[in-house]
Amino acid sequence: MMMEGMTQRWKEVLDRMACAARRAGRQPDSVRLVAVSKLHSADAVRALFESGQREFGENYVQEAQAKMAVLPPEISWHFIGHLQTNKARNVVGRFSLIHGVDSLKLARSLHDRAKALGLVQDILVQVNLAAETQKSGILEADLPGLAEFLTGCTHLRWQGLMLMPPFFDDPERARPYFARLNVLAQSLRVGFGLPLPDLSMGMTGDFEAAIEEGATLVRIGTRIFGERGTN
Ligand SMILES: *Cc1c(COP(=O)(O)O)cnc(C)c1O
Repeated sequence: MMMEGMTQRWKEVLDRMACAARRAGRQPDSVRLVAVSKLHSADAVRALFESGQREFGENYVQEAQAKMAVLPPEISWHFIGHLQTNKARNVVGRFSLIHGVDSLKLARSLHDRAKALGLVQDILVQVNLAAETQKSGILEADLPGLAEFLTGCTHLRWQGLMLMPPFFDDPERARPYFARLNVLAQSLRVGFGLPLPDLSMGMTGDFEAAIEEGATLVRIGTRIFGERGTN
């Protein structure tokens, strides 16, 4: 019963994503869903995988590793949590995309690990657009230094930007932040000559506004799996 409801909600999310893309004159397949499975069971992930979902997002390294160990290798895992520099070695090579790179120090340690493993790790830079003190993300003012480093990085492939806007009940209030991340990505593309194809923004409460403002990856948990900490 619970799993049936979940598959139904997942389909509704995909429909709403496609509608939002069309409203913005974009192809529906230009936006991908990262189903955020943190604090939900491996069985729930498996059920959604069997319905066709391939990309899942996790915030905690140990929890993610426990799921990876028992779930199909076709799953593409995204690390969307806050990453401490000393944990960098645990994520490189295990996740298809690391969303939360927000300092030179962290980028360096991810790069060193990727180099030691002989692989190229895809990453996004998380930007703290509102300069909220409690929040992860690099300040806009510090972005050029990090961008400079990433441009010369042989073992990190910088794929774009990630955003957690300030929390609002009304998604329309988050919209200006989504629009601004899009403009910022465009100026970085021009300034650094990089493709930076991905914008990771939009969650359960505001993914449609994010897509209308250019998101290519939306990270949705609650809307699909239900409230966290109940199973
Ligand atoms: C938990 C989380 C999400 C999903 O949030 P929902 O509101 O449950 O959709 C998205 N992004 C990040 C970074 C998260 O930590």
